[in-house]
Amino acid sequence: MTVPMKSLAGATRAELVAAVAEVGVPEGERRMRSAQLWHWIYHRGVADISAMRNIARPLLEKLAERFTLARPQIVAEQISADGTRKWLLRMPARGVHDKGAEIECVYIPENDRGTLCVSSQVGCTLNCTFCHTGTQAWARNLSHAEIVGQVMVARDRLGDFPGGVAPTDGLVPSGEGVRAVSNVVFMGQGEPLYNFESVRDAISVLTDGEGLSLSKRRITVSTSGVVPEMSRLGEECGAMLAVSLHATNDSLRDKLVPLNRKYPIETLTQACRDYPGASNARRITFEYVMLKGVNDSPAEARALVKLLKGLPAKINLIPFNPWPGSPYECSDWDTIERFSEIVFNAGYASPVRTPRGRDILAACGQLKSETERVSARARLMLEESLVNGLD
Ligand code: SAH
Ligand code: SF4
Repeated sequence: MTVPMKSLAGATRAELVAAVAEVGVPEGERRMRSAQLWHWIYHRGVADISAMRNIARPLLEKLAERFTLARPQIVAEQISADGTRKWLLRMPARGVHDKGAEIECVYIPENDRGTLCVSSQVGCTLNCTFCHTGTQAWARNLSHAEIVGQVMVARDRLGDFPGGVAPTDGLVPSGEGVRAVSNVVFMGQGEPLYNFESVRDAISVLTDGEGLSLSKRRITVSTSGVVPEMSRLGEECGAMLAVSLHATNDSLRDKLVPLNRKYPIETLTQACRDYPGASNARRITFEYVMLKGVNDSPAEARALVKLLKGLPAKINLIPFNPWPGSPYECSDWDTIERFSEIVFNAGYASPVRTPRGRDILAACGQLKSETERVSARARLMLEESLVNGLD
């Protein structure tokens, strides 16, 4: 069995220095050579080592004997009626026994921006009751390279590297200085703060000004409330923070987001108050999924405003996106509007997130890549429904 070659697509600067050292580049030249690799990989987006024209052939040959620039492979692409694209991606195999994990990644184009929603884990350990990903069996963390790889494959596909060609089907934002992938949100599969080091290293590659050059203000990490890691996110990454709140009292949040039993609302909001770098110019987004008859009353809207008093906050209302077998319904439009008005009148921006890509199960919380494996919770739900005689 042959050992798969390591891909350098997604590597950090330190890993590129190590790669050139591995092929015998003397110490004094390593910084310069690795900077050349960096430029070709991230600024020019080359997918083939031999395309690095200003590097001498013998060195390229040695690099190509050991390394590739393989990206995740697009196994399937679906394009929604609204232009949203969902990709099923297979990660390059990491060892002889690794077939390569499969994850989903979603691209949401608007006229003046394009947002890529990346996954940080294969599955999720947290089992929030309204989330499809929570029903998927946990498999593993993604590496930083696998996270960066999602951005690279999106830029390849959307013609977003120099010399690339934009696809003619579906919407890709265009115009002076507008990049196809201008924003990245960690809102795909997984809990990013349970994979902190990989997320941090991926953000450092994505925001490096000599490469992919994404602005830190255009990278948002969404957490269900892993309190002990939140300050590190602010200190070590400088990314924007989004918190999945969804309820204003612990008894309901315990049910919706079981992690609340470990880090209840009071601890979570305190961590938000202490979040490094939060200010009126860099507000924390609070996500609130609208579940019919569960958390959508005017009293809860008022409780939300009270809870967030004094915090530099934005509130993002997310209409619940149903998935096969989901135990909730989305609130009525009138109810969402009433809720939003109360929050808005209290002085908070309260945009309702337009559901994108629902028709291809690409909207928030609908991602799930391994349909054949079911988690303990999904099995329990299935067993309960059989006991109750439901279909
Ligand atoms: N694990 C992280 C990030 C991924 S989920 C987190 O929970 O924050 C991204 C967002 O989608 C979260 O706010 C999550 O609560 C929300 N979400 C999950 N399932 C959803 C659904 N079915 N409909 C609408 N939003 C959902
Ligand atoms: Fe995991 Fe986030 Fe889904 Fe909860 S909402 S199960 S933390 S992906």
